[in-house]
Amino acid sequence: MSSHLDTLCVQEGWQPKNGEPRVLPIYQSTTFRYDSSEHVGDLFDLKAPGHFYTRLSNPTAEAVEKKVAALEGGVGAMMTSSGQAASLIAILNLCGSGDHFIASGALYGGTTNLFNVTLKKLGIEVTFVDPYASEAEIQKAFRPATRAVFGETIANPALTILDIEKFARVAHANRVPLVVDNTFPTPLMCRPFDFGADIVVHSTSKYMDGHAVALGGMIVDGGRFDWQASGKFPGFTQPDPSYHGLVYTEAFGAAAFIVKARVQLMRDLGSTPAPMNAFLLNLGMETLHLRIERHCRNAETVAAHLEKHPGVTWVNYPGLPSSKDAALVKKYLPRGTCGVIAFGVKGGREAAVRFMDKLKLAAIVVHVADARTGVLHPASTTHRQLTDEQLAAAGISPDLVRLSVGIEHPDDILADLDQALQL
Ligand SMILES: *Cc1c(COP(=O)(O)O)cnc(C)c1O
Repeated sequence: MSSHLDTLCVQEGWQPKNGEPRVLPIYQSTTFRYDSSEHVGDLFDLKAPGHFYTRLSNPTAEAVEKKVAALEGGVGAMMTSSGQAASLIAILNLCGSGDHFIASGALYGGTTNLFNVTLKKLGIEVTFVDPYASEAEIQKAFRPATRAVFGETIANPALTILDIEKFARVAHANRVPLVVDNTFPTPLMCRPFDFGADIVVHSTSKYMDGHAVALGGMIVDGGRFDWQASGKFPGFTQPDPSYHGLVYTEAFGAAAFIVKARVQLMRDLGSTPAPMNAFLLNLGMETLHLRIERHCRNAETVAAHLEKHPGVTWVNYPGLPSSKDAALVKKYLPRGTCGVIAFGVKGGREAAVRFMDKLKLAAIVVHVADARTGVLHPASTTHRQLTDEQLAAAGISPDLVRLSVGIEHPDDILADLDQALQL
């Protein structure tokens, strides 16, 4: 098949044979029938490929996994029940109790909590580094027990751009992989594997689904990290007693990471997507290439407009020529960044609340990256328990509005913002 990303969005993953449904079916079945118990035994021993229980794999999920793997340029992917589950499993596949990893400090709030609270309770330590840290500064955070480096291509909500090549260089110099959360750009705007990332994770609940109908996550294996040469990952290179001494690197080669994530961690944790959600994700992805482009163009128009608006004190959008990250955008995101903009309303907290309440087309939602324009005022909602001083420490000013620009006509979005910004 053509390797153009647009064509992969529409067609990859489900190629029906003669007489089969044209559209990916929803395999709403927990289990699968086999002719012999010997065959099922081989499936359990990972000697034969095939589905036997939906907690581990399902044909509807498999189709969309193939689509995302192809779009990212990876060797395999695994869908999870949410983006949180994807980040959790990606880290647990690399780190156990007593291990440590390094993460860029500019992360999605849910990921920060996962790393700081729950992984800590499991005995896995994280060190956050400044997203603009130098290679020497990142190096200083390494310990003998460090097993991964993690960052977001475009951080939510800080909107800083990760210098993927820099983080990959330091990770590889220390023989550990770089994991990149590529939720905001999607592979249509940036493919982290092309810049040295080893593992990509997604919250598919955002642009990939695109319609705010289904939670989901995805882990993609780039297939290039050499677990054997690293010497730091016995979980990949030593026998797994729960599969009769199978060695993942020997049995599955370049796909060792993603197979281990599935047969060990999905088996044990069960953060499995519903077949219905895999179907909805696939349906959304059939138009991802059209939508993400419109999100970017609309956001560029809106950001340029807000930058000149007298009711706005500052605009943070990586796609603006004035962005502090313009050089990184040119390198990593030349076709566009995303549809999310942060800006300050003149007059501070109260003015921001008044602005939000006056909006008509844009809805107040705790969500980003779907077809409809949405806004969130963190200081009065998600972060309302914080004082102005605590907000500042979290990098959120009281006047900050996070705007997720949808795919409506840009003139209608601008008109709504203008009427609400009238002082
Ligand atoms: C939303 C989000 C997540 C978490 O995904 P869920 O699907 O909500 O669990 C992780 N990373 C980023 C960048 C996100 O925006």
